Amino acid sequence: MSATGSVEAMVESERLEIRSRIGAGVLMSERIAGPSEVNAAVQKSRAAQEEWAARTPRVRARAMGRLVAVLARRADEIAERVRDETGKPRAEALTEVAVSADLIQYYVRAAPKALAPRRVGSGWVVNKRGWVEHEPYGVVGAITPWNYPFIMVMDAVIPALFAGNGIVVKPSEYTPWTALLVPELCREAGLTDGLVGIVAGDGSTGAALIDAGVDKVSFTGSTATGRKVMAAAAQHPLPVVMELGGKDPAIVLADADLDRAARGVAYGAFFNAGQTCISVERVFVEGEVYDDFVARLADEARSLRTGTGTDADVGPMITAEQLEVVERHVSDALAQGARAVVGGPVEAASLESDAPLYPPTVLVDVTPEMAVQCEETFGPVVTVVRVSGEEEAVARANALGYGLFASVWTGDRERGLVVARRLLAGGVSVNDVLSHYALPGLPMGGRGQSGFGYRRGVQGLMEMVRVRTLLVDRLGLRREVWWFPYGGSSERLVEAVIQWRARRGISGIVGAFKKLIRGE
Ligand code: NDP
Repeated sequence: MSATGSVEAMVESERLEIRSRIGAGVLMSERIAGPSEVNAAVQKSRAAQEEWAARTPRVRARAMGRLVAVLARRADEIAERVRDETGKPRAEALTEVAVSADLIQYYVRAAPKALAPRRVGSGWVVNKRGWVEHEPYGVVGAITPWNYPFIMVMDAVIPALFAGNGIVVKPSEYTPWTALLVPELCREAGLTDGLVGIVAGDGSTGAALIDAGVDKVSFTGSTATGRKVMAAAAQHPLPVVMELGGKDPAIVLADADLDRAARGVAYGAFFNAGQTCISVERVFVEGEVYDDFVARLADEARSLRTGTGTDADVGPMITAEQLEVVERHVSDALAQGARAVVGGPVEAASLESDAPLYPPTVLVDVTPEMAVQCEETFGPVVTVVRVSGEEEAVARANALGYGLFASVWTGDRERGLVVARRLLAGGVSVNDVLSHYALPGLPMGGRGQSGFGYRRGVQGLMEMVRVRTLLVDRLGLRREVWWFPYGGSSERLVEAVIQWRARRGISGIVGAFKKLIRGE
């Protein structure tokens, strides 16, 4: 959003106006939050956080458990907001609520254990006791995208709260309406007002959040914006988690159950109209089953219903701009010799619709240089490439430097796992797709251009804590052997430690004693 010439237009551009994609009317119209509103939200969260952090992880977990009941009670309303804002099918909107409730329940069990102090062995310093404690950062600043308006906010909020932080979220300028419900749900569950804050705005609001005195930045979005966020965070400096874009491959080996593979790839490519960070965008198929696979995938794609109605399988693109990216990738590929087996370019008029639709599209005869094959498309478009075998499939899958998710389809699970471990990806499924989200204990994170750090799972919780290490002396001797002044005994002690570490078991202990007592 940028300010334009006239005063009237400027005032207009400083507001965030969200229109329903499934009905008529304006859902919200609110001033874009500037630095003062963002600072106020961070301060309010910090004020609430002190008391929240003082509770034990178990007490916090109990309070968080009450949030699940609120989500269940208000699931229809949340899903309706998601649908209003994005136009996605109701089943997909409800999935956002289910996945969030599941993640909370997972942490109710896992967080108290993961956050408990951890003793470490004393080793050769038997008169010391050491352990690790986990402390919240304070207030986390989260910047989230539009593709899953509820999950993306909740994926940041849930672990941050379990870990004892406050959090302020800057949701996408296209989906603040759903996000604004989150503090209300938290209050209803009994959490202190302000602990979770939402600042609705555009990129400038996100930039203001990084400069508002937060203690950690959690960013989910495109690789290009992620770079800017990292640069801004480096000025403070602030620790960051980067969940960035992808161009996920699927590898279909000749021994795969082709029916399941085609259905799975179609689901992975067209769920949420392909606007999923871990959606399948490129498929590499072994030559002998290539034609059969393409035919089955095409049948699947053809059978899907596109629209915003209650019977639709594939919803609209979030914005006309996003649809233009998809349209550009497809048109450019077709102009260079690719072929659309199903789908393809849309009428220019649909670019102007409030809920722009793009048909599920399967492209073949693509080459590695085409934008559709090397840039994130983020739409209902999948390419299929014939490969000579596993080696070529792995090499081409890994060629881009993105490393988010991938899938391998084969009749031999062991072989699937071997291929999976060779892929540049934070997560790989064998004979499945997108289901990582159904297992809240699996952390999500990328490699390379897809970012670093985790959300979900225990690792996602650990991103939200600092570690404090504590050591206590147990004997209170007048001095330690290794303190000043140095002399024979301090040197003998260090040599004894080397002997002890160099040999195993009893011979190490005997060697150490000899060094210590006799200096041998
Ligand atoms: P963007 O990168 O465009 O935006 C992400 C967020 O950053 C938005 O809230 C945006 O605000 C904000 N932002 C924009 N500019 C700045 C800035 N200078 N400083 C701080 N914040 C800023 O991504 P999209 O919203 O278009 O989301 C799609 C992308 O997200 C895809 O690349 C997808 O792969 C990725 N993604 C990754 C996931 C993962 O787990 N790895 C999960 C989901 C999506 P505004 O919207 O107001 O411009």
